[in-house]
Amino acid sequence: MTDKTLGLYIHFPFCQSKCPYCDFYSITDSSCADRYVNAIVLQMQDYAKAASRHDVDSIFFGGGTPSMLSTKQLLKVIDGIYDNFNVCGDAEFTIEANPATLKTASLRKLRHAGVNRLSIGLQSANDDELRALGRIHTYADFEESYRIARKAGFDNISIDLMYGIPNQTPESFANTLRTVTALRPEHISVYGLKIEEGTPFDERKDTLALPDEDTECKMYFDTVEYLSSKGYAQYEISNFSKPGHQCVHNLRYWNCEEYIGFGPGAHSYFGNRRFAYKKNISDYVKNMEMPGSVPDILSENYEIKDNERIGEYVMLRMRLSEGVDTEFFAAAFGIDFERLFGKYLEKYEKNGFVRKKDRSWSFTPKGMYVSNYILSSMFDFDSDILSGIANGTDK
Ligand code: SF4
Repeated sequence: MTDKTLGLYIHFPFCQSKCPYCDFYSITDSSCADRYVNAIVLQMQDYAKAASRHDVDSIFFGGGTPSMLSTKQLLKVIDGIYDNFNVCGDAEFTIEANPATLKTASLRKLRHAGVNRLSIGLQSANDDELRALGRIHTYADFEESYRIARKAGFDNISIDLMYGIPNQTPESFANTLRTVTALRPEHISVYGLKIEEGTPFDERKDTLALPDEDTECKMYFDTVEYLSSKGYAQYEISNFSKPGHQCVHNLRYWNCEEYIGFGPGAHSYFGNRRFAYKKNISDYVKNMEMPGSVPDILSENYEIKDNERIGEYVMLRMRLSEGVDTEFFAAAFGIDFERLFGKYLEKYEKNGFVRKKDRSWSFTPKGMYVSNYILSSMFDFDSDILSGIANGTDK
């Protein structure tokens, strides 16, 4: 038994082809995957001592497309985890997968090695919409993957969906929701398509037949209502689950709990620091093989100050349906949440965007949809309020 809990995120920056909307760091040439896996294990050895008093209760293989690696390579990373960290017997262990990349034998071996949750990126049950997104799979491919995953013993499956796809209508999206819920996955994530800067979609955004804002808004509210009617409780802006199946790993991010990220582009929050390796796989591998060989290997590395910690906590915690518990907040930060944000809470409560239930403030479904806007209006880390806390003038 150790003092604290910890999450591990391992980034696998390989994809069969690049989807034109995606700005995650990944490459299509996986010929360096063996060296990459070695480098990940070397990074684990680096952190083993610092994390020796932590219990790992969540592990997440994300990407990119982790399921593009061979089973042998993935098992090597899993061995690296068990060799270097204290993993709880009931730790949640998720692997992300693309429908076209799943094989029965591999899934069985991963399940046997401790992987107990599968997150499948479907996006849409409509093949025209999948084509518009540049996905490499059809809906039939997904159904086949889902079937073999269940057969391989995965009883905790999450499915990623997307709204706001070119030419998508509320009806076609409703059909996707109906089709997917009929399969009874334990968890569903629903994200709005964002046109990210520098992506191929960004370059041709004027030619994309994107649904307008009102249509997107309707799709979001339809999602919340429909999934709730099917027994999926919304526990975060974009995440819905059957009882007892919230994603432990992602909750760690929203609760500001510690995690270490492995690989280029992966972020960490550990030992009161936030840091991330640059998005360059060859530099990452070189530096792990010969520590210090690449100058400035980190893209960020800073200690979190008191005022930043409060800001981060509220920003992240308000994403959850549970919101911010005022008593917990006072005990953790020594400040009255309502005194700090009173004028915003009053204004947004009047407009039906936030509500108070028992001791907690949270967004209403209407508030969830515009939460980014509301939170950025409440927060400016240089604002007088937070500077006041930093200087001790608000106490
Ligand atoms: S498969 Fe996933 S990570 Fe890879 S390019 Fe497509 S959306 Fe991005």
